[in-house]
Amino acid sequence: MRLNTNWNRRSFLGSLGALASAITLPFKGAFAATPQKTATTITGFGQTGNPYEELGLQTVINAEGTMTVLGGSLPHPELEAVMAMAGRHFVPIADLEVAAGNRIAQMLKLPDGYTALVTSGAAAAMQSGLAGILTGDNEAFIRQIPDLTGMKSEVIIQKTHRNPFDHQLRTTGIKLVEVETREQLRRAVNERTAIMHFSNFANAAGQIKVDEWVKLAKEYKIPCMNDAAADTPPVSHLWDYANMGYDLITFSGGKAIRGPQCAGLLIGRKELVACALLNNSPHEDTLGRSQKVGKEEIIGMVKALEMYLNEDHDALEKEWQNRLQLVSREITKVPGVRTEFFTPDIANHVPHMRIIWDEARVKITPKEVSKTLRSSKPSIVIGGGEGHPGLGMSSFMLQPGEAEIIAQQLARVLKEHSS
Ligand SMILES: *Cc1c(COP(=O)(O)O)cnc(C)c1O
Repeated sequence: MRLNTNWNRRSFLGSLGALASAITLPFKGAFAATPQKTATTITGFGQTGNPYEELGLQTVINAEGTMTVLGGSLPHPELEAVMAMAGRHFVPIADLEVAAGNRIAQMLKLPDGYTALVTSGAAAAMQSGLAGILTGDNEAFIRQIPDLTGMKSEVIIQKTHRNPFDHQLRTTGIKLVEVETREQLRRAVNERTAIMHFSNFANAAGQIKVDEWVKLAKEYKIPCMNDAAADTPPVSHLWDYANMGYDLITFSGGKAIRGPQCAGLLIGRKELVACALLNNSPHEDTLGRSQKVGKEEIIGMVKALEMYLNEDHDALEKEWQNRLQLVSREITKVPGVRTEFFTPDIANHVPHMRIIWDEARVKITPKEVSKTLRSSKPSIVIGGGEGHPGLGMSSFMLQPGEAEIIAQQLARVLKEHSS
C-alpha cells in the first residue's frame, strides 16, 4: 500500500533546500501566479542538506512519538510548500485569523456557533482561551491581566488532572481549585469561578469523566474547557468535544496532525474565541503577545487539517503496526526477548510495542539499552525504564527505512549481552 508518507528521512533533512528548489521566488516580477520549478542553489548554511549537522548536532531516529523536545512531528512537503506561499505576501493578521478559523470550522463541521483560532500551540490556546473568558472584550481588563482586579479568579480542576501544562492557565493570574468528588465540585463553584478545566488525557484518572464534567458545567452555568492537545488520532476528537458541549477545546498542531511546529488550535464558541484573539498576538499590550503565530503557521494549520482529514487513517495504522511487527520479528529471535502490543486509550492513540526480556539471560537493563541506542550512530530515541518494564516504542514518527535500522541495532545490543 502506498502511503502519503512515502518521503524519506533525507528528503526531510534536506527539506529547507528542497522547498526552496520546488518553488522559487523570482527576483524580478515577484508574486508569480504559478510556482516556478527552478532549482535554487544554496550556498553557505544549509548547503549540505542537513543544517542541524552543520550546527554540530546529531539528528535522531524517533521511536518515542510526538515529543515537542525532539521537534514534534515532520511536515508533509505539500504543507511546507503552502507555508512557503504564505511567506510571500503581507496580510492583516487579525483578519487572517478569523478567515482561517471560519474555514477550519467548515472543514471540521463544527456545531453552529463554533469557530477556531490558530494559536502558537495548545498551551497558547489554553492561555488565550482562558484570558478571553476573564476579560471579555473589556480593553482595560485585557491590558490589566494578569492583575485580575474586577474579574473572576478561579479555575476548577480535578486533582488528578493537574499537569505541567496548567502553568498556562496560571499565567493569567487565576488560582486553581482542586476537587476530587462531585460534592467537592459543587461546593467549589462560586461567583469567582471562571471555568471548569478538563485534561482530556487524564479522563480515566478522575472520578468525573469527560461527558459528565461538561454536563455539570452546564448545570452550574460555568464555561468548560478541554485540553485535548495530543488526543488525535482518532480524527473525530477534533469535533467530538464541541459536539459534547465543551465551550473551548485545545489541540496541538505540531503533534500527530503534522501541522506547523509552532501552531495549535483553540476550538470554541464564536464569542469566546473572539475574546481569546483579543488577548493574543498580533494585538499589543496583551498577555498573549508573546505567543506570536505567523501567517505561515496560520495558513499551514488550515492546510495541515485539510490533509489530515483526507488521510487514509486505517492504512496509516496498519503501516505503523507493520513497522512494529518488523522490529518484533527481528529482536524476538534473541532468546529470552518477547514483545507485547498495545494502543493507549487516549493521548498517542496509536500502536505501541513493549519489549521485555529475561534479565537472567540478557544481562542489560532497559535504561542501559535506551542509553546505548541513543549514543549509537544513527542515534535512536526509544523510551525505557520509566515505571514500566522493558522498553516502549511507537512507530508513527518513523521515516521509511528506520524500523529496519531499529530492528538491527536493538537485536545487536540485546545479542551482545546474551549469555
Ligand atoms: C503537548 C501538550 C500541550 C502543549 O501543546 P503545544 O502545542 O506544544 O503547545 C498541552 N497539553 C497536553 C496534554 C499536551 O500533551
